[in-house]
Amino acid sequence: MESQKEARILQQPVARPPGASRSQTPNAKERQEGGPVPAAAALGAEADDDSADGLWELPVEPAKRRPECSRCSRPQKVCLCPFLPAHPLHISTHLYIIQHPAEENKVLRTVPLLAACLPQDKCKVKIGRRFSEERDPELSTVCRKSGTLILYPGAEAANLEEFILDSPVYPSTIIIIDGTWSQAKDIFYKNSLFRHPKQVN
Ligand SMILES: [Zn+2]
Repeated sequence: MESQKEARILQQPVARPPGASRSQTPNAKERQEGGPVPAAAALGAEADDDSADGLWELPVEPAKRRPECSRCSRPQKVCLCPFLPAHPLHISTHLYIIQHPAEENKVLRTVPLLAACLPQDKCKVKIGRRFSEERDPELSTVCRKSGTLILYPGAEAANLEEFILDSPVYPSTIIIIDGTWSQAKDIFYKNSLFRHPKQVN
């Protein structure tokens, strides 16, 4: 379970980014206490005086996402890169992360953080719920390799640390499922591909 532990450690700073609470508190306070009038409201009042009708003719822009950091994929204001290692960590094992589609759009995304800490060629993320030999030839090759492990708890799972100590070769790839427990369970049990790798926890 080492990798999972690491993922938990990475998750902790995400829950309470040190800058976030500081930058949000004053705004929340102002709103509660009826502080300064928001700029948008002031602009709105002005527009009414000129010609409010004109506003209807303005092109409608799709809602824009807040600017994101390209490395950690978090909004730039709460970028966690200063807390991440400056250089990718050296790891000998490849990580293959199977991500439930619902996990991709979550606010507290941990996979981009993990990926930001690892060399690009060592961390592959595949998004989806169903995988097959035909549609996912690369994943099925990985699953069938003898050096591939899948991190998923259960009666049949071996302890990862003990397994590595007993194994003559170091695992080449570890598959990790990213999602809630029920999403991970669904992905693990409904894809026969994941029966091939040795199960570890
Ligand atoms: Zn960042």
